[in-house]
Amino acid sequence: MAVAELKRPDFKVDTRPDWCPGCGDFGILNAIRQALANMRLEPHNVAVVSGIGCSGKTPHYIGTYGFHTLHGRALPFATGIKLANRELTVIAVGGDGDGYGIGAGYFVNTGRRNLDFTYIVFNNGVYGLTKGQASPTLGRGEQTKSMSEAAIQDGINPIGLAISSGYTFVARGYAMDPRGLAKLIADAVRHRGTSFIDVLQPCPVYNDKQTVEWYMGRDREDKQRRVYQLIEEGFDPVVRDPSNVDEIVQKKQIALAKSYEWGDRIPIGVLFQIDMPTFEDGLDLRRPDGSKGAIMKQAAPYQDFSSVLGRFR
Ligand code: SF4
Repeated sequence: MAVAELKRPDFKVDTRPDWCPGCGDFGILNAIRQALANMRLEPHNVAVVSGIGCSGKTPHYIGTYGFHTLHGRALPFATGIKLANRELTVIAVGGDGDGYGIGAGYFVNTGRRNLDFTYIVFNNGVYGLTKGQASPTLGRGEQTKSMSEAAIQDGINPIGLAISSGYTFVARGYAMDPRGLAKLIADAVRHRGTSFIDVLQPCPVYNDKQTVEWYMGRDREDKQRRVYQLIEEGFDPVVRDPSNVDEIVQKKQIALAKSYEWGDRIPIGVLFQIDMPTFEDGLDLRRPDGSKGAIMKQAAPYQDFSSVLGRFR
């Protein structure tokens, strides 16, 4: 198939998603497929890696290489894949419990390295797969319908944590805006360095507080949407001179302040972006013959592994 003809359905597979009706995961899945098609990326040149949780099923539903890994471990797997084959476009996905709970150490240290891949977190405030326990992003005093009492711990600020950890592209998206999210994902993938997108994702089954109606402001007298696009208010997240420490600090401070805006107004879009050398730039990885480039090379179209896997049945 000619690359120029790629469309969103080309990244579909026969497996049907088994997420609950109305789940925000569908919007993120469609946005990822749309971004890949818009970027004219060939399926065999893309790898999608996940951890555990409802979002962990995402690689099953995208027609690229995929790897459903361990709880909280999507980032170390993505790191290994990218180091083995820098020519691959690598996208790691996971939930807020997966990424900011058990995977929190990997989240921080991935930011320090700045490998060239993208991490998308499906943030719904609960552990959906295990019946709605409070996740690390549910704030103190908040109580969803599956909790017997309100949360007694503060929620973390993923955007603030990403900025202070060193991520070079930090953004927030909204799952029910697939077109805007597809553009955000494409921008993140094009960015050279580790891109992070925290996606606000309604879980209609277990989170009855941060619902679509709530994000859209339908519960308010003035009916004003809570989510708004930063770019429409002239927000400029880009560091122009990466050698200027004062500019970096100033942009980080502004982004950090914006990341705490929550409640009546919730900003979405890119909050911070800077061009910096990647982790790969500092390595001298070579093939066995001494030449530079991918240590591993993917097959096009997909490699059929069934004969190999059959030996382990
Ligand atoms: Fe989606 Fe929530 Fe259902 Fe999981 S439990 S599939 S996050 S609606």
